[in-house]
Amino acid sequence: MTAKTKAYAAPSAKSPLAPFSFTRRDPLPDDVKINILFCGVCHSDIHTARDEWSGTTYPCVPGHEIVGQVAAVGRNVKKFKDGDLAAVGCMVDSCRECHACHGNLEQFCSDVVWTYNSPDEHTGGVTYGGYSTNVVVNQHFVLRVRKELDLVASAPLLCAGITTYSPLRHWKIGQGQKVGIVGLGGLGHMGVKFANAFGAEVTLFTTSPGKAADAKRFGAHDIVLSKDEDAMKARGSTFDFILDTVSAKHDRDLYLSLLKRDGTMTVVGLAGEPISISPFSLVRLRRRLAGSVVGGIAETQEMLDFCADRGITCDVEKIKIDYINEAYERMLRSDVKYRFVIDIASLK
Ligand code: NAP
Ligand code: ZN
Ligand code: ZN
Repeated sequence: MTAKTKAYAAPSAKSPLAPFSFTRRDPLPDDVKINILFCGVCHSDIHTARDEWSGTTYPCVPGHEIVGQVAAVGRNVKKFKDGDLAAVGCMVDSCRECHACHGNLEQFCSDVVWTYNSPDEHTGGVTYGGYSTNVVVNQHFVLRVRKELDLVASAPLLCAGITTYSPLRHWKIGQGQKVGIVGLGGLGHMGVKFANAFGAEVTLFTTSPGKAADAKRFGAHDIVLSKDEDAMKARGSTFDFILDTVSAKHDRDLYLSLLKRDGTMTVVGLAGEPISISPFSLVRLRRRLAGSVVGGIAETQEMLDFCADRGITCDVEKIKIDYINEAYERMLRSDVKYRFVIDIASLK
């Protein structure tokens, strides 16, 4: 008889997260069961728990920045054994047969199964995420975590890390390029670290004057308060690439005006409202507006190994699970340095 998995769930869009328990499946031949040690808190967890994108099924157990220890493996699993460190990010399954899956771009598979709030063929309900004591995942979607990576500080790499690493790699960011990162939260602080590690000249755009010293420490060469009109104007038409990580509605024309000819602004922030921009912002100087969602499994492993090689981790505040509702409120006030990570021992 499989033991109950303890968790925290949002019972509805309007109620705080509260204790919940459910049963995970026993590992199938290709599954890995992981006892979760830490789980990062992504702003997508808030959007989903509060149904800001609509389509949330309740109860909702968020969490897709999962690190832990392998507790059991199915008979076909060769890559992992009991006791290994392992991680799970935003996806737990996909069709494995389509063009996207064959190209190691599972995030674009039309049948991708997200780690939480996706239809779960095994239970008939929805998938439950990492605000829980364990998870059972097909081995293809389980990542290796090298021993030199600090576990707590690595959990957010599984979403905040790959979501910023992937577009910076895709748009070939490197030396000689001027890159802007908008917003210094979970995603933004990793965007600054990666853009710096890839050799770019990095500018942080922030609404929070108190974050300047940290941004410098993460590798920003220039810090601009987005409310400072003169400072924004002075940097007009100078950027090759801008990564917009903002979680709320904001003025996109302001940032498009900073791109030089043929520059690209890539949106990863997912505020619920439609994006409204002036066509002049794009047409003048042939600028591009693009989007990106997490990254494929192979690229996530590449990112984790890059972080282990280069000593890159996230700046985190470790919390107990019963602090989660307060953590959400603090994230909504942009008061996070720079990712909350739940110590899952506090759930047991
Ligand atoms: P976060 O830690 O809460 O950081 C968001 C940051 O945005 C804040 O710290 C703040 O930075 C800035 N900000 C907030 N409200 C703002 C406003 N009204 N105007 C201007 N700036 C504002 O959030 P996160 O976890 O990094 O996630 C950011 C967004 O990315 C969320 O919408 C999330 O759902 C989305 N996301 C997308 C993907 C993807 O694959 N595309 C993956 C993960 C997350 P400053 O204080 O520096 O201004
Ligand atoms: Zn996320
Ligand atoms: Zn597919």
